[in-house]
Amino acid sequence: MSRPELIILGGGCAGLSLGAALAASRPPLHTLILEPRADYTDDRTWGYWAGGELAAGPFEGLERRRWSAWEVRAEGERLVHRSRRYSYRALGGGDFYRTARQRIRNADGVRLKTGVSVQAIAPENGGFSVRTETTGHRCDLLADTRPLSAAYRSAPGLVQHFLGQEIETAGPVFDPDCVTLMDFEAPQAGAIHFLYLLPYSARRALVVDTWLSAAPFEPAHYRAGISDYLAQRFGLRQHRVLREESGQIPMSLLRHRRRRAPGWVRLGGRGGAVKASSGYAFQAIQRQVQGFAQALAADPQGALPPPARAGHLEWLDRIFLLRLLHEPAAAPGLFARLFRRVEPDALVRFLAERPRPTDLLAVMGALDAGPMLATAIKGWRQWV
Ligand SMILES: Cc1cc2nc3c(=O)[nH]c(=O)nc-3n(C[C@H](O)[C@H](O)[C@H](O)COP(=O)(O)OP(=O)(O)OC[C@H]3O[C@@H](n4cnc5c(N)ncnc54)[C@H](O)[C@@H]3O)c2cc1C
Repeated sequence: MSRPELIILGGGCAGLSLGAALAASRPPLHTLILEPRADYTDDRTWGYWAGGELAAGPFEGLERRRWSAWEVRAEGERLVHRSRRYSYRALGGGDFYRTARQRIRNADGVRLKTGVSVQAIAPENGGFSVRTETTGHRCDLLADTRPLSAAYRSAPGLVQHFLGQEIETAGPVFDPDCVTLMDFEAPQAGAIHFLYLLPYSARRALVVDTWLSAAPFEPAHYRAGISDYLAQRFGLRQHRVLREESGQIPMSLLRHRRRRAPGWVRLGGRGGAVKASSGYAFQAIQRQVQGFAQALAADPQGALPPPARAGHLEWLDRIFLLRLLHEPAAAPGLFARLFRRVEPDALVRFLAERPRPTDLLAVMGALDAGPMLATAIKGWRQWV
């Protein structure tokens, strides 16, 4: 391939999604994706809402399962929400990587190079030179999707850290029709702790031990949390672990800039796609990528990814995160209030970052705006 017009740094969720979107454009922009992984594994499971006006995006139909009921367990209550309009969906990392790579392979102008990591970037003749361990590349434009810098990761805030196990049981155990979004009936230990459970069938589920606190644990800690939870909630003493996934997502109040320099933009987690208070990013990444692909087609040099979310939603999210930072013990009650007081479809639209004005009013009413604002004002100086 001749000198690429665009180099995508990182072939994870945002990088491969952008590569696949560009592969579908006519004519495709000459693009090279640089990714350190030699092989892709089934390393994560993306959960998100779609249906109705919530676009499922370009990977619709690949989901492993869809559910129309979900629950939160907190303050001794089981709060179940159902929807006929929206569904919660789970997309396996392995299926995503395979399909995105296939779409890229089928296109002439987009190439994925694995097993190389970017070491240095320098401006050169109105474009950039990008150095990997083995060679150098030149390009006009850069889309940077590499993980957040160390400075960002060590900024004040919380870390959402978790380990999940996909397990199989000998007999039927799970209700396959209802996702457990958050079960707070687990030791909180001065942090925010909940279990997340995706029941693929009565015998198979992904169970994730999730913590929001200052620092992660050793893997054994989460595994013990999952075993304790399965014993306590289902009386389950034995199960087979099929696979594991884990992650650490910084939940910080630092702002992200979408443009590092003219022609060098940031996307994905690096471009602010992660919703700080929840760690969700998949749908925001798809929206960012689609918007950026369209902008590239119109004006490659000036193209900028759209913001991951509207300014007022970013603001609300920061207030919610501040409340969690200042009063972690309030978390189960806050989520319980949302699920008790907000109508299911309105809450889905809010959580999916596509709320109607009435949904926002319902959410703000449910959260007792007074204490929320008081916390925000108290903590604002410390964190911003
Ligand atoms: C286990 C797990 C489960 C998650 N579950 C959900 C969920 O249910 N719902 C949801 O919405 N979000 C979820 N997320 C959060 C978010 O959607 C993902 O982290 C998503 O993968 C972020 O996409 P990204 O492209 O920004 O980063 P990544 O997908 O991490 O991609 C970054 C890429 O950069 C590459 N890279 C690193 N260093 C270099 C270098 N020097 N040069 C070039 N490339 C480099 C990496 O190898 C990687 O491929 C989850 C995250 C994890 C880890």
